[in-house]
Amino acid sequence: MTAHPATEAGITACAEKLKQGGLVALPTETVYGLAGDATNANAIAAIYATKARPQFNPLICHIADMDSARALGQFNDMAEKLAAAFWPGPLTLVVPRQKDCAIDPLASAGLDTIALRIPAHAVAQKLLRAVGLPLVAPSANPSGRLSPSSAAHVAAMLPDSDVLDGGDCAIGLESSIVGCLDETPLWLRAGVWAPKDIEACLGCALSDPPQEKDAAARLAPGRLVRHYAPQSPMRLNVARAAKDELLIGFGTDAPADCFANLSPSGDLTEAAAQLFAVLHAADTAAQKSQCGLAVMPIPVHGLGEAINDRLTRAA
Ligand code: AMP
Ligand code: MG
Repeated sequence: MTAHPATEAGITACAEKLKQGGLVALPTETVYGLAGDATNANAIAAIYATKARPQFNPLICHIADMDSARALGQFNDMAEKLAAAFWPGPLTLVVPRQKDCAIDPLASAGLDTIALRIPAHAVAQKLLRAVGLPLVAPSANPSGRLSPSSAAHVAAMLPDSDVLDGGDCAIGLESSIVGCLDETPLWLRAGVWAPKDIEACLGCALSDPPQEKDAAARLAPGRLVRHYAPQSPMRLNVARAAKDELLIGFGTDAPADCFANLSPSGDLTEAAAQLFAVLHAADTAAQKSQCGLAVMPIPVHGLGEAINDRLTRAA
């Protein structure tokens, strides 16, 4: 583990590491996050691998200012109002992605929405400005462990990670999440702020997210997040595709003429990094040619568990 002091030199070193696709645990006012470049699929996959997360959930993208936020997401009047009142600070806004949004699809788990937050922590702010990139930063703990609120917690749980030491987190609680997708503000996750705080700002009531009627979009169990699913029918654990199917391959056994290979060398982190981009491309092509999708078997160790979880939900 390398602990970097929150000095100019320490922040510069961490910014360089992040620009090169590396990971750094960073302090925010909520908890320490394991940060990576939100535009880099390999960095995001590495976060999942380091946390040993068995599932891909969309991640919160941290940015330094409103201009960066508007470049990534579409802000309606409500989103603007909440951002003006609560940013920088522990409120996350889920908004539609901009058409040319630079965030990698793995960060939003294939959804066409994006979760954004400007953190208030001075060290997080300095790092974001130094790196000049949006950073995803889920809590810097292995899946299933407590969220870290000090650099020492991170060092104990992720001994191989770089940590930017910004002292103890002031809050130690997650950000609240509000969805601003249309005229109806959605209460997506409880956190630092209560619904009444948000409603007082907006002057209207928050709604619970609608239960999706559309079979393609589901709510994840226990989490109020819609999941991306292709429109085309999809079969899993398929060695050979039928005539009317596009094959998504994996590993050295994949036929040369498959639609795409998630990882020709059979590397699960590479496959995770490619997953949503390949699913989107394959789904678009399959709809055009009116065929289905078939996916070769993906081993269930390492990130294979999260890949299989997502494929099973999507199929
Ligand atoms: P974190 O692990 O701190 O990055 O927080 C991730 C959580 O943010 C997810 O588990 C969701 O609850 C929420 N979230 C992120 N992106 C979205 C989105 N596009 N739509 C709805 N909720 C989201
Ligand atoms: Mg966590």
